[in-house]
Amino acid sequence: MNNNNQAPGSSQSSSVSQTVSIYCTRPRVQGENIYPHVNQILEADILDKSKRRQLVCATCGMPLILGEGKRYVPIEQLGSGGFGVTFTAVDLNLGAGSVLNRPRRVVKQLCPMHSLPPKLLERCKSYLKEKPLL
Ligand SMILES: [Zn+2]
Repeated sequence: MNNNNQAPGSSQSSSVSQTVSIYCTRPRVQGENIYPHVNQILEADILDKSKRRQLVCATCGMPLILGEGKRYVPIEQLGSGGFGVTFTAVDLNLGAGSVLNRPRRVVKQLCPMHSLPPKLLERCKSYLKEKPLL
């Protein structure tokens, strides 16, 4: 038996057709499938500002690139809790070249399991505004 098979083309070094795994950030409610939607997107489409705006999750249709100006690319889910989910995201407004070589940020998505009282929601929003991104 020989289990040393390698997928054809897996050793290609061309960067033109390179894909990036992007996590969908659509909030999920308890009981729903907890596995994240991960989309393989061509790096060229992420770097193209007009195409970037049209990138959506193949499973649910949620826009993939976050923030005003579509600058944050969620590439990894760091954790989740009762108040939301934390992602590592690439900041497209910083650095140059390959998407995965650019500076990273931590993006916190507020999505509490239960609706918050309006006063607490306002406090959370102002906290998140004041908190500088890492
Ligand atoms: Zn999705």
